[in-house]
Amino acid sequence: MRSRLPHPDERSAQTTYDLLVDVDGVLYPFPEEFTTYLSGRLGRELRLDTTSWEFYEAWGIDADSFVDLLAAGVGARALWWEGAPYPEVGRSVRRLREAGHRLHLVTAREVAGAEAAMEATLHWLSAHDLEVESVNLALDKPTVLGRLGLDPSGCIAVDDAPHLVEAWEGAGVHSVVLDRWRSYRGTHRAVPDLAAFADLVEERSRNSRA
Ligand SMILES: [Mg+2]
Repeated sequence: MRSRLPHPDERSAQTTYDLLVDVDGVLYPFPEEFTTYLSGRLGRELRLDTTSWEFYEAWGIDADSFVDLLAAGVGARALWWEGAPYPEVGRSVRRLREAGHRLHLVTAREVAGAEAAMEATLHWLSAHDLEVESVNLALDKPTVLGRLGLDPSGCIAVDDAPHLVEAWEGAGVHSVVLDRWRSYRGTHRAVPDLAAFADLVEERSRNSRA
């Protein structure tokens, strides 16, 4: 009996995922870039407190002023336009895509205006050769599942904001906290960077094939 050549679909029988990836704090060093931007603007040195989510409050800036400063920085083509990705990001994105996973960026950047946010994000991705399947602006991140027609069980999300990881989990998406500063004290699975997230995706993909 002749052995049969594998059908192309069988060769790629490993599980691939739709990866829902946050941008600020995951790909883009936003707290670091914002600190540098504001230091320059105020003409004084600012220390970034990496243990606080509202790191700007220590500088006497409230949430409304933060959004105003952010919008000004984006408008000046500084924030979100300038600044390199975290060092492991380029190779991790390529590795995930080469393994057949699909990357969907999901970001709340529309707080600074949807059009400006999208323009900056697309420019920055292109400037750093970061290819993804889609870029999505959403304050309520799980709404992107419906927008893209994704099955939550085929997705994995990564975000540095624990409350957004909770939101993804509530929508049935396996989710991971990106805890770059090792300040997360909750019970969700956490990874220190995108390379470790890629390891986790690979491990999950392998286990699901068994
Ligand atoms: Mg973030």
